[in-house]
Amino acid sequence: MSKDATEEELKKAYRTLAKKYHPDLNPGDEEAEQKFKELNEAYEVLSDPEKRAKYDRFGHAGVEGQTGGFTGFSDIFDDIFDIFGGGFSSQTRRAGPRKGADIRHNLNLSFEEAVFGVEKEIQIRKVDECSVCSGSGVKPGSSKTTCPKCGGTGEIKYAQNTAFGQFVRVATCDECGGTGEIIKDKCTTCGGTGKVKNSKKIKVKVPAGVNTGSIISIKGEGDAGERGGPSGDLYIYINVREHDIFRREGNDIHCDIPISFVQAALGSEIEVPTLEGPIKYDIPEGTQTGTVFKLKNKGVQNVRGYGKGDFYFKVEVEVPKKLTEKQKEILIEFAKESGDSYKGGKKGFFDKMKDAFN
Ligand SMILES: [Zn+2]
Ligand SMILES: [Zn+2]
Repeated sequence: MSKDATEEELKKAYRTLAKKYHPDLNPGDEEAEQKFKELNEAYEVLSDPEKRAKYDRFGHAGVEGQTGGFTGFSDIFDDIFDIFGGGFSSQTRRAGPRKGADIRHNLNLSFEEAVFGVEKEIQIRKVDECSVCSGSGVKPGSSKTTCPKCGGTGEIKYAQNTAFGQFVRVATCDECGGTGEIIKDKCTTCGGTGKVKNSKKIKVKVPAGVNTGSIISIKGEGDAGERGGPSGDLYIYINVREHDIFRREGNDIHCDIPISFVQAALGSEIEVPTLEGPIKYDIPEGTQTGTVFKLKNKGVQNVRGYGKGDFYFKVEVEVPKKLTEKQKEILIEFAKESGDSYKGGKKGFFDKMKDAFN
């Protein structure tokens, strides 16, 4: 049966074999039972256009694993294909153009570089076409010759005899790697590979708003392609270092700002450090520690160019660690006024509690 057997031919082959292996006609014959099972599975593959296409292209490997339980299957496929007495040949395997490999490069950026964008020069190692032989691998002045093993077809046919007739398998020629040609006089610069490894400096425009995990792709800056295929691409993986005071969450910026308890109690104009420099902000009277304030649109530029994140700052009220005598006096006055206890002063809440339990 040929590769392009019609559905009708396939059905006919199936029926012929089904009759042969049907359990009713082979009572107690385990081998026939197994064959009948495989036949049904094989028929399922071949009558499904999608699976069939895979089988035609890749052979058993194409459908194995996909549906499961196809191992040891080849016999029944052979039976079906050979029922018409013809061999099965896949399309030619002569190797064609292939795209070059992609290159991955990691790029570390400072917080500011990521926020505002930057132009960086990076150095990569990439496979280029050999300039001496223009990628052919042939020594200048000589030429390629037809592969003697496959006769230029790039494939080798193996005949296999089965119980139902001859079955032809096709494999890529190992002598020429499927190209159909071999090089006698190799280019001395690249050793016949047609490829050389070069260092290359590339300028990368990093847009404002990138973050750790962003990927910048540059088309065609990967390894050179095979047999005239296009070059691969360069993928730059961004990693952003942390900032001393700013934390980034998406396009929003967060930071903590210490203020004194006097500023918190009386209210105060403070300076907020933002990405664009310090901004003056009025903290209201009676602000509690941990209060978060928001500055709209003072965050990071969206990497796609539209919109901006916000800037959040959290005030943390700090208690002074050292006081002058004058400051102490004033605070004691303050404590007396508000009825608070203090060290060396009148009994406070905890002292009163202690007394109550004694
Ligand atoms: Zn060369
Ligand atoms: Zn060959």
